[in-house]
Amino acid sequence: MARSAKIGFISLGCPKALVDSERILTQLRAEGYETSARYDDADLVVVNTCGFIDAAVEESLEAIAEAVAENGRVIVTGCLGARPERISERCPEVLAVSGPHAYEEVMAQVHRHLPPPHDPFLDLLPPQGIKLTPRHYAYLKISEGCNHRCSFCIIPALRGDLVSRPVGEVLLEAERLVESGVRELLVVSQDTSAYGTDLRYRADLWRGRLVRARMTDLARALADLPAWIRLHYVYPYPHVDELIPLMAEGGILPYLDMPLQHASPAILKAMRRPAAADRTLARIERWRKECPELVLRSTFIVGFPGETEAEFEELLDFLRAARLDRVGAFVYSPVEGAAANALPGAVPDEVRQDRLRRFMAAQAEISRERLRERIGELAIVLVDALRDDWIIARGPWDAPEIDGKVLIANEWDLTVGDFVKVRILDASDHDLIAEPVL
Ligand code: SF4
Repeated sequence: MARSAKIGFISLGCPKALVDSERILTQLRAEGYETSARYDDADLVVVNTCGFIDAAVEESLEAIAEAVAENGRVIVTGCLGARPERISERCPEVLAVSGPHAYEEVMAQVHRHLPPPHDPFLDLLPPQGIKLTPRHYAYLKISEGCNHRCSFCIIPALRGDLVSRPVGEVLLEAERLVESGVRELLVVSQDTSAYGTDLRYRADLWRGRLVRARMTDLARALADLPAWIRLHYVYPYPHVDELIPLMAEGGILPYLDMPLQHASPAILKAMRRPAAADRTLARIERWRKECPELVLRSTFIVGFPGETEAEFEELLDFLRAARLDRVGAFVYSPVEGAAANALPGAVPDEVRQDRLRRFMAAQAEISRERLRERIGELAIVLVDALRDDWIIARGPWDAPEIDGKVLIANEWDLTVGDFVKVRILDASDHDLIAEPVL
């Protein structure tokens, strides 16, 4: 027999809020939910609020309080949701709060607290949706677009300015992924450090507390989940400092993927990048003192227009001083539509290739040394795949696809997705060899 899924819906506010209500109700009906006009007949109540003037705020708060008293299971959305503290002060029992135009978030919250009625077609899909990654790790996209205008990049032209996902929606997706067996979440975006600036850091209610849409607050909330949390594309803005204690405590992985692109001030300026290499070096040093396990990954571009031998040497000096753990490098190549195409001082192709070779040789030596320093260490690794001879795993210091591996002789009874304690026995240029410690 089909389970009951009846929703009470209270719609307050202006015509824009009404349109939001219609969209949510249409989606609810499309998914097979019924609506109910009575509190005692509904399995859940959604209140779409108004927050325009004091009287509207009071009316919304009264409607929420009434729904909580009469039904008990209440989700709040709409304009007043942009000030979730007002709601949690008055009605801490509400299940979830989202702001205006948050259709997807409201639907995600409804699914969480009242699963949709059985549908033989839709129910073929797992609750976490279809993922293209293996079952034990998943990418968590927190925003789209970018507010920077790096001269070599056309992403802002293609995808527009930064649009962050509401933090409640991101956390809900993260929670679902972990519940479905994901052991590692890889937080991605074009610019993770800028997360939430477009939302003015608007807070959402999650697990009974307010979480702001800000990278460090999101990382702190994600740290509550029983999974590895790895941050990608973090630019070295000042608030990145706040992540380091969380890494040192083991809340999130001590891993920062920080695309620096270059180290020479002149080239960074031509790239329109907001960074200064000397300050970056000082910060890296400070971070490592605070969290010695910290692993830094970065990407660089060599042969950018105007890069002379002197500027390239500056980059090599930075590389040797920073001793980053993992580094990717690309030869500059013009992208149609990028502002950098108009810059003077194009570097001949053979010089670009030669610089890439020299850059990679310098980094290979550093990586080798960094990996050798791990020999004898004890670490927890995550099993990625089973091969005939080897169990392929990864340590906290390796992101999937882009970094190295930890190889364990295939003599152990391990499964993909297992966390295993190992001792590092040996190191090659990119990978480590380890054995489990029982
Ligand atoms: S390179 Fe990154 S930070 Fe720069 S514009 Fe492109 S997406 Fe934004």
